[in-house]
Amino acid sequence: QSGFISIIGRPNVGKSTLLNRVIGQKIAIMSDKPQTTRNKVQGVLTTNDAQYIFIDTPGIHKPKHKLGDFMMKVAQNTLKEVDAIIFMVNAEEGFGRGEEFIIEKFQSVKTPVFLVINKIDKIHPDALLSVIESYKEKYNFCEIVPISALEGNNVDRLLEQLKEYL
Ligand code: GDP
Ligand code: MG
Repeated sequence: QSGFISIIGRPNVGKSTLLNRVIGQKIAIMSDKPQTTRNKVQGVLTTNDAQYIFIDTPGIHKPKHKLGDFMMKVAQNTLKEVDAIIFMVNAEEGFGRGEEFIIEKFQSVKTPVFLVINKIDKIHPDALLSVIESYKEKYNFCEIVPISALEGNNVDRLLEQLKEYL
């Protein structure tokens, strides 16, 4: 199988860290400038039985200018076209306005959305359970996957689950 995956989430949740771990090179850093190009391929992971093509999706944030509106439309089109969306959140912070704004954008697309709760190495398991509960009621995520992108916990499982959607 081969497919496109868009990773979105607020700054500093760990998107580049996950990409760097998965691809094994420091490529994600290079596309860290906000709102540069549209829909860049950030990296490709090829395993024995699957190919994961990760796409950068800039512009998912509250637009401040007309250009921002345009970028938002571009971003939303990307979300429609990919095979799966990784929506990454920070386990330490829980649900907030930034997350709410992004989730609104999912309402108009049919693409499966993975909720990836990152930085689980920094919280207690009980706290993780309540974060999971708080997100469950916000959107019908196809999977909820707690990970530590930094330490690599559960990243293999995330890839296995993604494979089903490629
Ligand atoms: P991005 O803005 O979403 O691309 O976030 P980055 O990948 O640049 O990560 C932001 C910061 O969070 C960096 O200092 C990372 O080292 C740290 N970070 C990312 N993932 C994890 C994680 O799983 N655990 C911990 N403790 N820190 C993380
Ligand atoms: Mg980044």
